[in-house]
Amino acid sequence: MNMQEYIEEAENALLHTYNRYQIVFDKGEGVYLYDMEGKRYLDFVAGIAVFALGYHNEEYNDALKAQIDKLLHTSNYYYNVPAINAAKKLKEVSGMDRVFFTNSGAEAVEGAVKAARKYAWLKDGRTDHEIIAMNHSFHGRTMGALSVTGNPKYREPFEPMIGNIRFADLNDLDSVKRLVSDKTCAIIMETIQGEGGLMPADECFLKGVKAICEERDILLILDEIQCGMGRTGYMYAWQRYGVKPDIMTTAKALGCGVPVGAFLMTEKVGRNSLAAGDHGTTYGGNPFVCAAIEKVLDLFEENHIIENVREVAPYLERRLEELKEKYQCITERRGMGLMQGLVFDHPVRDIIDGALEKGLVLINAGTNIIRFVPPLVISKENVDEMIDILEHAIGSEACG
Ligand SMILES: *Cc1c(COP(=O)(O)O)cnc(C)c1O
Repeated sequence: MNMQEYIEEAENALLHTYNRYQIVFDKGEGVYLYDMEGKRYLDFVAGIAVFALGYHNEEYNDALKAQIDKLLHTSNYYYNVPAINAAKKLKEVSGMDRVFFTNSGAEAVEGAVKAARKYAWLKDGRTDHEIIAMNHSFHGRTMGALSVTGNPKYREPFEPMIGNIRFADLNDLDSVKRLVSDKTCAIIMETIQGEGGLMPADECFLKGVKAICEERDILLILDEIQCGMGRTGYMYAWQRYGVKPDIMTTAKALGCGVPVGAFLMTEKVGRNSLAAGDHGTTYGGNPFVCAAIEKVLDLFEENHIIENVREVAPYLERRLEELKEKYQCITERRGMGLMQGLVFDHPVRDIIDGALEKGLVLINAGTNIIRFVPPLVISKENVDEMIDILEHAIGSEACG
Protein backbone atom coordinates (compact mmCIF):
# COMPACT_ATOMS: atom_id res chain seq x y z
CA MET A 1 0.00 0.00 0.00
CA ASN A 2 1.17 3.54 -0.63
CA MET A 3 0.97 6.38 1.85
CA GLN A 4 -2.40 7.67 0.66
CA GLU A 5 -3.95 4.22 0.92
CA TYR A 6 -2.66 3.83 4.47
CA ILE A 7 -4.17 7.19 5.37
CA GLU A 8 -7.54 6.07 4.01
CA GLU A 9 -7.31 2.83 6.02
CA ALA A 10 -6.51 4.85 9.12
CA GLU A 11 -9.56 7.05 8.61
CA ASN A 12 -11.70 3.93 8.34
CA ALA A 13 -10.36 2.29 11.47
CA LEU A 14 -9.22 4.89 13.99
CA LEU A 15 -11.60 6.98 16.02
CA HIS A 16 -11.47 10.46 14.55
CA THR A 17 -10.18 12.39 17.57
CA TYR A 18 -7.41 14.18 15.65
CA ASN A 19 -7.30 16.19 12.44
CA ARG A 20 -4.11 14.50 11.38
CA TYR A 21 -1.52 15.88 8.99
CA GLN A 22 -1.47 13.76 5.84
CA ILE A 23 1.79 11.93 6.52
CA VAL A 24 2.70 8.43 7.60
CA PHE A 25 6.07 8.58 9.37
CA ASP A 26 8.20 5.52 8.99
CA LYS A 27 11.53 6.04 10.74
CA GLY A 28 13.73 8.57 12.44
CA GLU A 29 17.40 9.43 12.58
CA GLY A 30 18.74 12.12 14.92
CA VAL A 31 16.62 15.24 14.43
CA TYR A 32 15.10 14.01 11.16
CA LEU A 33 12.00 11.97 10.42
CA TYR A 34 11.30 10.06 7.21
CA ASP A 35 7.86 9.34 5.78
CA MET A 36 6.89 6.09 4.02
CA GLU A 37 7.99 7.50 0.69
CA GLY A 38 11.48 8.31 1.98
CA LYS A 39 10.96 12.08 2.21
CA ARG A 40 13.06 13.67 4.97
CA TYR A 41 11.72 16.18 7.51
CA LEU A 42 13.55 18.29 10.07
CA ASP A 43 11.62 17.69 13.29
CA PHE A 44 10.85 20.61 15.60
CA VAL A 45 8.09 18.75 17.45
CA ALA A 46 9.84 15.65 18.83
CA GLY A 47 6.54 13.83 19.25
CA ILE A 48 5.35 16.81 21.34
CA ALA A 49 8.41 17.36 23.52
CA VAL A 50 9.05 13.64 23.94
CA PHE A 51 12.05 12.54 21.90
CA ALA A 52 14.62 14.72 23.69
CA LEU A 53 17.59 12.55 22.67
CA GLY A 54 16.66 12.48 18.99
CA TYR A 55 15.64 9.40 17.04
CA HIS A 56 17.53 6.15 16.76
CA ASN A 57 19.88 6.77 19.65
CA GLU A 58 21.82 3.53 19.69
CA GLU A 59 22.70 3.42 23.37
CA TYR A 60 19.09 4.04 24.31
CA ASN A 61 17.81 1.44 21.84
CA ASP A 62 20.35 -1.14 23.06
CA ALA A 63 19.33 -0.63 26.69
CA LEU A 64 15.69 -1.26 25.76
CA LYS A 65 16.50 -4.32 23.69
CA ALA A 66 18.56 -5.80 26.53
CA GLN A 67 15.70 -5.27 28.98
CA ILE A 68 13.20 -6.86 26.58
CA ASP A 69 15.30 -10.01 26.57
CA LYS A 70 15.61 -9.98 30.34
CA LEU A 71 12.26 -9.03 31.85
CA LEU A 72 9.42 -6.83 30.58
CA HIS A 73 6.95 -6.84 33.40
CA THR A 74 6.33 -8.20 36.84
CA SER A 75 3.99 -6.28 39.14
CA ASN A 76 4.31 -3.55 41.71
CA TYR A 77 3.83 -6.24 44.36
CA TYR A 78 7.52 -7.07 43.76
CA TYR A 79 10.69 -4.99 43.43
CA ASN A 80 12.66 -4.66 40.21
CA VAL A 81 16.14 -3.22 39.71
CA PRO A 82 15.41 -0.80 36.81
CA ALA A 83 12.61 0.85 38.85
CA ILE A 84 14.87 1.19 41.87
CA ASN A 85 17.64 2.76 39.79
CA ALA A 86 15.25 5.02 37.88
CA ALA A 87 13.62 6.27 41.09
CA LYS A 88 17.00 6.95 42.70
CA LYS A 89 18.20 8.94 39.69
CA LEU A 90 14.93 10.83 39.40
CA LYS A 91 15.21 11.83 43.05
CA GLU A 92 18.74 13.09 42.41
CA VAL A 93 17.88 15.27 39.43
CA SER A 94 14.65 16.61 40.91
CA GLY A 95 15.56 17.05 44.57
CA MET A 96 12.20 15.45 45.45
CA ASP A 97 11.96 12.52 47.89
CA ARG A 98 9.30 10.03 46.78
CA VAL A 99 8.43 8.74 43.31
CA PHE A 100 5.34 7.01 41.90
CA PHE A 101 5.62 5.82 38.27
CA THR A 102 2.60 6.07 35.96
CA ASN A 103 1.93 5.23 32.30
CA SER A 104 1.23 8.74 31.09
CA GLY A 105 1.19 12.39 31.99
CA ALA A 106 -2.52 12.49 32.73
CA GLU A 107 -2.14 9.63 35.20
CA ALA A 108 0.67 11.49 36.94
CA VAL A 109 -1.72 14.44 37.38
CA GLU A 110 -4.43 12.08 38.69
CA GLY A 111 -2.01 10.76 41.30
CA ALA A 112 -0.88 14.24 42.29
CA VAL A 113 -4.48 15.34 42.84
CA LYS A 114 -5.28 12.22 44.87
CA ALA A 115 -2.19 12.74 47.03
CA ALA A 116 -3.17 16.36 47.71
CA ARG A 117 -6.73 15.43 48.68
CA LYS A 118 -5.56 12.64 50.95
CA TYR A 119 -3.04 14.96 52.62
CA ALA A 120 -5.79 17.44 53.43
CA TRP A 121 -8.25 14.74 54.51
CA LEU A 122 -5.73 13.30 56.97
CA LYS A 123 -5.40 16.75 58.51
CA ASP A 124 -9.04 17.65 59.09
CA GLY A 125 -11.24 14.77 57.91
CA ARG A 126 -13.26 17.05 55.62
CA THR A 127 -14.41 15.87 52.21
CA ASP A 128 -15.10 19.25 50.63
CA HIS A 129 -11.57 20.40 49.86
CA GLU A 130 -10.95 22.67 46.91
CA ILE A 131 -8.16 22.83 44.34
CA ILE A 132 -7.15 26.02 42.57
CA ALA A 133 -6.03 25.56 38.95
CA MET A 134 -5.21 28.09 36.22
CA ASN A 135 -7.17 29.30 33.23
CA HIS A 136 -5.61 28.18 29.91
CA SER A 137 -3.82 25.31 31.63
CA PHE A 138 -3.57 21.81 30.23
CA HIS A 139 -3.16 18.76 32.44
CA GLY A 140 -4.45 15.86 30.33
CA ARG A 141 -7.62 14.15 29.11
CA THR A 142 -8.71 11.78 31.89
CA MET A 143 -11.59 13.00 34.04
CA GLY A 144 -9.47 14.18 36.97
CA ALA A 145 -6.80 15.81 34.82
CA LEU A 146 -9.51 17.37 32.66
CA SER A 147 -11.19 18.75 35.75
CA VAL A 148 -8.14 20.91 36.50
CA THR A 149 -7.60 21.85 32.82
CA GLY A 150 -8.46 25.51 32.30
CA ASN A 151 -10.04 25.20 28.89
CA PRO A 152 -13.86 25.05 29.02
CA LYS A 153 -14.00 23.74 25.43
CA TYR A 154 -12.20 20.54 26.51
CA ARG A 155 -14.33 20.13 29.65
CA GLU A 156 -17.87 21.05 28.73
CA PRO A 157 -19.06 17.98 26.79
CA PHE A 158 -17.92 15.77 29.66
CA GLU A 159 -19.44 17.61 32.60
CA PRO A 160 -19.84 17.07 35.45
CA MET A 161 -16.14 17.17 36.29
CA ILE A 162 -14.74 16.20 39.69
CA GLY A 163 -15.99 18.87 42.05
CA ASN A 164 -14.51 21.80 43.92
CA ILE A 165 -12.05 23.06 41.33
CA ARG A 166 -11.59 26.86 41.10
CA PHE A 167 -9.82 28.65 38.28
CA ALA A 168 -7.49 31.62 38.72
CA ASP A 169 -5.39 33.50 36.15
CA LEU A 170 -1.72 32.68 35.70
CA ASN A 171 0.49 35.60 36.75
CA ASP A 172 -2.33 37.35 38.60
CA LEU A 173 -1.67 36.71 42.27
CA ASP A 174 -4.81 38.58 43.38
CA SER A 175 -6.95 36.19 41.33
CA VAL A 176 -5.43 33.35 43.35
CA LYS A 177 -5.80 35.13 46.70
CA ARG A 178 -9.49 35.73 46.01
CA LEU A 179 -10.06 31.96 45.75
CA VAL A 180 -7.97 30.76 48.67
CA SER A 181 -9.97 29.60 51.67
CA ASP A 182 -9.64 27.11 54.50
CA LYS A 183 -11.01 24.51 52.09
CA THR A 184 -8.14 24.92 49.63
CA CYS A 185 -5.91 21.83 49.64
CA ALA A 186 -3.75 22.46 46.56
CA ILE A 187 -2.80 24.92 43.85
CA ILE A 188 -1.87 23.26 40.57
CA MET A 189 -0.19 24.85 37.57
CA GLU A 190 2.27 24.22 34.78
CA THR A 191 5.52 26.06 35.49
CA ILE A 192 5.30 27.03 31.82
CA GLN A 193 1.93 26.58 30.13
CA GLY A 194 2.38 24.44 27.01
CA GLU A 195 -0.86 23.72 25.14
CA GLY A 196 -2.33 26.93 26.50
CA GLY A 197 0.21 29.02 24.61
CA LEU A 198 3.83 28.73 25.82
CA MET A 199 3.27 31.08 28.73
CA PRO A 200 5.83 30.98 31.57
CA ALA A 201 4.74 31.69 35.13
CA ASP A 202 6.40 34.94 36.33
CA GLU A 203 8.96 34.43 39.04
CA CYS A 204 7.18 36.74 41.45
CA PHE A 205 3.82 35.09 40.78
CA LEU A 206 5.27 31.67 41.50
CA LYS A 207 6.99 32.93 44.64
CA GLY A 208 3.77 34.60 45.75
CA VAL A 209 1.80 31.39 45.28
CA LYS A 210 4.46 29.43 47.15
CA ALA A 211 4.25 31.89 50.05
CA ILE A 212 0.47 31.46 50.25
CA CYS A 213 0.92 27.69 50.20
CA GLU A 214 3.50 27.73 52.98
CA GLU A 215 1.48 30.05 55.15
CA ARG A 216 -1.70 27.93 54.95
CA ASP A 217 -0.24 24.43 54.48
CA ILE A 218 -1.69 24.22 50.96
CA LEU A 219 0.22 21.93 48.58
CA LEU A 220 1.83 23.43 45.48
CA ILE A 221 1.61 21.03 42.53
CA LEU A 222 3.80 21.93 39.55
CA ASP A 223 3.05 20.13 36.28
CA GLU A 224 6.42 19.74 34.53
CA ILE A 225 5.21 17.19 32.00
CA GLN A 226 6.03 19.39 29.01
CA CYS A 227 8.45 22.00 30.38
CA GLY A 228 10.52 19.55 32.42
CA MET A 229 13.37 17.22 31.50
CA GLY A 230 15.93 19.83 30.53
CA ARG A 231 13.83 21.78 28.04
CA THR A 232 14.33 25.14 29.76
CA GLY A 233 18.04 24.64 30.44
CA TYR A 234 17.21 23.24 33.88
CA MET A 235 16.20 19.67 34.57
CA TYR A 236 12.89 21.01 35.87
CA ALA A 237 11.74 24.53 35.08
CA TRP A 238 10.95 25.32 38.73
CA GLN A 239 14.66 24.89 39.53
CA ARG A 240 15.28 28.03 37.49
CA TYR A 241 12.97 29.97 39.81
CA GLY A 242 14.11 28.27 43.00
CA VAL A 243 10.48 27.52 43.91
CA LYS A 244 10.22 23.91 44.98
CA PRO A 245 6.80 22.28 44.70
CA ASP A 246 5.34 19.87 47.26
CA ILE A 247 4.26 17.57 44.43
CA MET A 248 5.41 17.61 40.82
CA THR A 249 4.54 15.68 37.69
CA THR A 250 6.84 14.61 34.87
CA ALA A 251 6.30 12.54 31.71
CA LYS A 252 6.80 13.22 27.96
CA ALA A 253 10.64 13.23 27.65
CA LEU A 254 11.03 11.11 30.80
CA GLY A 255 10.98 7.89 28.77
CA CYS A 256 11.89 9.46 25.41
CA GLY A 257 9.29 7.38 23.58
CA VAL A 258 8.16 4.66 25.96
CA PRO A 259 4.86 5.60 27.65
CA VAL A 260 5.75 6.59 31.18
CA GLY A 261 5.20 9.38 33.66
CA ALA A 262 5.68 9.98 37.36
CA PHE A 263 4.54 12.12 40.22
CA LEU A 264 7.04 13.01 42.88
CA MET A 265 6.65 14.54 46.30
CA THR A 266 8.57 15.75 49.31
CA GLU A 267 9.09 13.49 52.29
CA LYS A 268 6.51 15.50 54.25
CA VAL A 269 3.79 14.79 51.69
CA GLY A 270 5.02 11.24 51.18
CA ARG A 271 4.57 10.46 54.86
CA ASN A 272 1.17 12.12 55.08
CA SER A 273 -0.77 11.19 51.96
CA LEU A 274 -1.02 8.03 49.85
CA ALA A 275 -0.40 4.81 51.77
CA ALA A 276 -0.61 1.12 50.95
CA GLY A 277 -3.92 0.40 49.23
CA ASP A 278 -4.62 4.03 48.27
CA HIS A 279 -3.23 4.03 44.76
CA GLY A 280 -1.87 1.58 42.23
CA THR A 281 -1.16 0.68 38.63
CA THR A 282 -0.57 -2.60 36.82
CA TYR A 283 2.07 -1.40 34.39
CA GLY A 284 3.40 1.78 36.00
CA GLY A 285 7.12 1.53 36.70
CA ASN A 286 7.62 -1.84 35.09
CA PRO A 287 11.20 -2.98 34.32
CA PHE A 288 10.93 -2.09 30.63
CA VAL A 289 9.89 1.54 30.96
CA CYS A 290 12.19 2.06 33.93
CA ALA A 291 15.17 0.76 31.94
CA ALA A 292 14.30 3.54 29.47
CA ILE A 293 14.11 6.21 32.19
CA GLU A 294 17.38 5.05 33.68
CA LYS A 295 19.12 5.24 30.31
CA VAL A 296 17.55 8.61 29.46
CA LEU A 297 18.85 10.12 32.70
CA ASP A 298 22.32 8.63 32.11
CA LEU A 299 22.43 9.96 28.56
CA PHE A 300 21.28 13.41 29.67
CA GLU A 301 24.39 13.58 31.79
CA GLU A 302 26.86 11.84 29.47
CA ASN A 303 25.79 13.81 26.41
CA HIS A 304 25.54 17.15 28.24
CA ILE A 305 21.97 17.65 27.07
CA ILE A 306 21.22 20.57 29.39
CA GLU A 307 24.43 22.34 28.35
CA ASN A 308 23.34 21.98 24.73
CA VAL A 309 19.95 23.51 25.53
CA ARG A 310 21.68 26.45 27.23
CA GLU A 311 23.83 26.99 24.16
CA VAL A 312 21.24 26.57 21.41
CA ALA A 313 18.13 28.05 23.07
CA PRO A 314 19.32 31.71 23.13
CA TYR A 315 20.15 31.35 19.43
CA LEU A 316 16.68 29.97 18.65
CA GLU A 317 15.17 32.83 20.64
CA ARG A 318 17.19 35.39 18.69
CA ARG A 319 16.27 33.93 15.30
CA LEU A 320 12.57 33.84 16.26
CA GLU A 321 12.77 37.47 17.45
CA GLU A 322 14.25 38.39 14.05
CA LEU A 323 11.28 36.75 12.34
CA LYS A 324 8.92 38.67 14.60
CA GLU A 325 10.58 41.95 13.62
CA LYS A 326 10.42 41.07 9.94
CA TYR A 327 6.82 39.85 9.62
CA GLN A 328 3.91 41.98 10.72
CA CYS A 329 1.63 38.99 11.14
CA ILE A 330 3.82 37.73 14.02
CA THR A 331 2.73 39.57 17.13
CA GLU A 332 4.76 37.92 19.87
CA ARG A 333 7.49 35.43 20.72
CA ARG A 334 7.26 33.75 24.09
CA GLY A 335 8.45 30.71 25.98
CA MET A 336 11.64 29.60 27.61
CA GLY A 337 14.62 27.54 26.45
CA LEU A 338 13.73 25.04 23.75
CA MET A 339 10.04 25.55 24.43
CA GLN A 340 9.09 28.54 22.30
CA GLY A 341 6.01 29.94 20.61
CA LEU A 342 5.41 32.45 17.83
CA VAL A 343 2.02 34.12 18.05
CA PHE A 344 0.41 35.07 14.73
CA ASP A 345 -2.53 37.36 14.09
CA HIS A 346 -4.25 34.57 12.14
CA PRO A 347 -4.56 30.75 12.25
CA VAL A 348 -1.27 28.95 11.60
CA ARG A 349 -2.54 25.71 10.06
CA ASP A 350 -1.63 26.81 6.50
CA ILE A 351 1.89 27.79 7.54
CA ILE A 352 2.39 24.43 9.25
CA ASP A 353 1.05 22.62 6.17
CA GLY A 354 3.41 24.67 3.98
CA ALA A 355 6.37 23.86 6.23
CA LEU A 356 5.54 20.14 6.12
CA GLU A 357 5.42 20.32 2.34
CA LYS A 358 8.96 21.75 2.46
CA GLY A 359 10.28 19.15 4.92
CA LEU A 360 9.84 20.74 8.35
CA VAL A 361 7.64 19.35 11.13
CA LEU A 362 6.03 22.02 13.31
CA ILE A 363 3.02 21.95 15.61
CA ASN A 364 0.51 24.52 16.81
CA ALA A 365 -0.59 25.44 20.33
CA GLY A 366 -4.11 26.75 19.96
CA THR A 367 -5.07 28.11 16.55
CA ASN A 368 -2.73 31.10 16.28
CA ILE A 369 0.54 29.91 17.80
CA ILE A 370 3.34 27.85 16.29
CA ARG A 371 5.07 25.84 18.97
CA PHE A 372 8.75 24.90 18.84
CA VAL A 373 9.64 21.89 21.04
CA PRO A 374 12.51 20.23 19.14
CA PRO A 375 14.68 17.35 20.31
CA LEU A 376 17.11 18.74 22.89
CA VAL A 377 20.07 17.61 20.78
CA ILE A 378 19.48 20.16 17.98
CA SER A 379 22.33 22.38 16.81
CA LYS A 380 22.42 26.03 15.74
CA GLU A 381 22.66 24.79 12.13
CA ASN A 382 19.37 22.95 12.64
CA VAL A 383 17.86 26.21 13.89
CA ASP A 384 19.04 28.01 10.73
CA GLU A 385 17.64 25.23 8.58
CA MET A 386 14.30 25.47 10.39
CA ILE A 387 14.14 29.26 10.07
CA ASP A 388 14.86 29.09 6.30
CA ILE A 389 12.01 26.67 5.68
CA LEU A 390 9.63 28.49 8.02
CA GLU A 391 10.34 31.78 6.24
CA HIS A 392 9.46 30.18 2.93
CA ALA A 393 6.21 28.91 4.42
CA ILE A 394 5.36 32.32 5.88
CA GLY A 395 6.43 34.08 2.66
CA SER A 396 4.15 32.05 0.44
CA GLU A 397 1.35 33.16 2.78
CA ALA A 398 2.08 36.78 1.85
CA CYS A 399 2.49 37.95 5.41
CA GLY A 400 4.86 40.85 5.25
C1 LIG B 1 1.00 16.42 27.61
C2 LIG B 1 0.67 16.99 28.91
C3 LIG B 1 -0.12 16.30 29.84
C4 LIG B 1 -0.78 14.97 29.54
O1 LIG B 1 0.14 13.97 29.28
P1 LIG B 1 -0.36 12.61 28.56
O2 LIG B 1 0.85 11.75 28.57
O3 LIG B 1 -0.81 13.01 27.18
O4 LIG B 1 -1.47 12.07 29.36
C5 LIG B 1 -0.31 16.88 31.08
N1 LIG B 1 0.23 18.07 31.40
C6 LIG B 1 0.99 18.75 30.53
C7 LIG B 1 1.59 20.06 30.94
C8 LIG B 1 1.22 18.26 29.25
O5 LIG B 1 1.94 18.96 28.38
